[in-house]
Amino acid sequence: MNLILFGAPGSGKGTQSDLLVKKLGMIQLSTGDLFRNAIKNKTKLGIEAQTYMDEGQLVPDSIVINMVEEMLLTGVSNFILDGFPRTLAQAESLEELVLRLKINISKAIFLDVPSEVLLGRLTGRRVCTKCGAVYHIESKQSKVEDVCDSCGAELIQRNDDKQGVIQARLDAYQNFTSPLKEFYKKSGRYIEVNGNRNTEEVYQEIEKIVK
Ligand code: AMP
Repeated sequence: MNLILFGAPGSGKGTQSDLLVKKLGMIQLSTGDLFRNAIKNKTKLGIEAQTYMDEGQLVPDSIVINMVEEMLLTGVSNFILDGFPRTLAQAESLEELVLRLKINISKAIFLDVPSEVLLGRLTGRRVCTKCGAVYHIESKQSKVEDVCDSCGAELIQRNDDKQGVIQARLDAYQNFTSPLKEFYKKSGRYIEVNGNRNTEEVYQEIEKIVK
């Protein structure tokens, strides 16, 4: 099954996608991760995306859509789109793309988390510089401070998780991504999951939907 996982920054898309990868062997297609890798490798795409990301703005639709098209052209299946689409224009382009490539995306799962909870999740998030594992300074501490339990590399705060940038990301979500709920309700693929619970409970519900 191919699915879309969407929600506000900090709603748990990355965490739940990781679990679907580990437990069900699905493939995570995260546009945010692709941009972060491109920035790390200093590619043209990374240079284009960096200013937008650093300011908490969305990367322009044309850049994101081209990148997703390239990924889907590889024939990938059993995937989770994590962080895409994020605007109505992206959602419409995706419809056209999947039709053309004969791909079926059967569900769009929305992770619902109240805005006051999102802020705490984002400011406390720490990520591993090597393997990308995600921690939280209160709710998911590493055994040794600032050191990844899985690979021993350093944990850092993502640039876009810093206080000044978070509000811009939440505003971008509210203005551009939130309307996607209506879009997917109309197409009959919308499923809402309460994301304001512990990770395992949320995962169990998503797994039931996927299976
Ligand atoms: P994420 O890790 O999904 O929160 O994405 C991090 C950042 O990458 C976002 O704040 C945007 O700047 C950019 N980004 C990721 N996915 C998209 C998308 N579908 N459309 C526009 N910008 C995106």
